Amino acid sequence: MTARRKLIAGNWKMNGLKADGLALALDLAGRLNGAGEVSFDLLVCPPFPLLFPVGDAIAGSALALGGQDCAAKNSGAHTGDVASTMLVDAGCRYVILGHSERRADHGESDALIAAKAAAAHAQGLIAIVCVGETETQRDAGQADAVVTGQLAGSIPVGATAANTVIAYEPVWAIGTGKTATPDDVKAMHAHIRAELDGKIADPAKAKILYGGSVKPGNAVELMAVENVDGALVGGAALKADDFWAIATSCR
Ligand code: PEP
Repeated sequence: MTARRKLIAGNWKMNGLKADGLALALDLAGRLNGAGEVSFDLLVCPPFPLLFPVGDAIAGSALALGGQDCAAKNSGAHTGDVASTMLVDAGCRYVILGHSERRADHGESDALIAAKAAAAHAQGLIAIVCVGETETQRDAGQADAVVTGQLAGSIPVGATAANTVIAYEPVWAIGTGKTATPDDVKAMHAHIRAELDGKIADPAKAKILYGGSVKPGNAVELMAVENVDGALVGGAALKADDFWAIATSCR
């Protein structure tokens, strides 16, 4: 069996001002540095204005930094967009792409997400590509087909296990307190693993994260599911105690 190191990623979404972000990141960096050898990588993805101060504050620590989106272009007349080059400049190693909130709020298509991921890869960033079905789609028995389509459209040419992480986030489980059952997660992650063949170089080594109301109380069970290689965490990533408890639930 291929050993894959777990990745615990915190998506802060549009939360926190500078003082909050600095306090949270420094708290986590301190815990990580004091923990010695751990079985996971820890990542925080603050809002854009906090990337530079947080990046400067955690520089030299084991805590990794990521953006929540990036543009498909590197510069130019694109008001409001942020380029992957700028994320790298702030110290980012990762970028979340195609989160369901961006797909819904900004109408992001699979093709746009693939273009953003290609831009991120060109700058040496690891793209966390999010996929997941809505409740209506799951109830209609379309979950596998929806995720298959998103993977086919959102993963760019040149994706490898080293530059691409997949996050399976059932839309109905995000921020709702509902979580997929371990059996459903196991089935979908196995489906995704099989679908990565031919889309990502070295698919057995690619990480597949689960996201959707992951909390300290369900993390041990979810992180133990086959083919679950970590978590993408929203609400619980805003509290250092909760986020740390999720991370340390990884075996
Ligand atoms: C997310 O934002 O990716 C997420 C999974 O949120 P939450 O953990 O709050 O459900």
